[in-house]
Amino acid sequence: MRVIETIQEMRTFVSAARKQGKSIALVPTMGALHEGHLALMRCAKAQCDIVITSIFVNPTQFGPQEDLACYPRDLAGDSEKASGVGVDAIFHPTVAEMYPNRYASYVYVEEITDKLCGLSRPGHFRGVTTVVSKLFNIVQPDKAFFGQKDAQQVLVIDQMVRDLNMNVQLEIVPIVREDDGLAMSSRNRYLSTEERSAALVLSQSLSLAERLVHEGERDIAKIRAAVVSVITEQPLANLEYVEIYSYPELESASTLSKKALLALAVRFGTTRLIDNIILEAS
Ligand code: AMP
Repeated sequence: MRVIETIQEMRTFVSAARKQGKSIALVPTMGALHEGHLALMRCAKAQCDIVITSIFVNPTQFGPQEDLACYPRDLAGDSEKASGVGVDAIFHPTVAEMYPNRYASYVYVEEITDKLCGLSRPGHFRGVTTVVSKLFNIVQPDKAFFGQKDAQQVLVIDQMVRDLNMNVQLEIVPIVREDDGLAMSSRNRYLSTEERSAALVLSQSLSLAERLVHEGERDIAKIRAAVVSVITEQPLANLEYVEIYSYPELESASTLSKKALLALAVRFGTTRLIDNIILEAS
């Protein structure tokens, strides 16, 4: 497995693979790889000849008060994990390689970035769509793999790909969870033992919502209130948002008809965790 740090080298690697008629998958990540990331890479390997994963802690998607400086970085451990699932190359550029002096161009998706994480993390999705556009331009993959863990991100990137006629097929991989239900995340390692067990309220509250829908509840305000009450009962949980929107349009609704995205963000100490579930009225 190659570790490639420059855009020029990445382009050379990709064009050699193309000349051999190989299909190319891209799995964008920020590293500190866990089973959630590896699930994306395994799917990618099953569908394409060559898998490239990017490991880049992208500064433009972090707000000024966020965890950019302390975000976990472990290239040696990541390389071992990625090569173990058949990744062919890691793209690991420096910040200066991606954003040289006088960098001035950004990609911005309107409307669906105005809610959920877009509301609580201003500028976040502008950073995501910018770096993903750059990665698509550098790698020119046939397919790109993203996790449903970041449900809004998937919708924003899908909107961007359609609006800007990008020639890439998106593949979405279900959320990978720990045995006790906590969605895997690079940020879980920030949690203290007490916060780690308190964080179970996320998946528990989502399961409760799913059960309510299964039992016939269709009133979105009631479902939301039940979720809020489970989370606020946990003293270590600091609720940022719980929202239910029609899916995939992300429009407000009062009654559940067809599909809805229940998404939440909760802080435990300084650690911000997100989770979500698609609710389906059968
Ligand atoms: P990140 O490194 O957190 O930016 O995540 C890179 C990619 O992995 C994104 O497409 C995420 O949605 C995906 N991902 C992260 N955690 C999980 C998980 N628990 N299950 C599935 N995909 C995930």
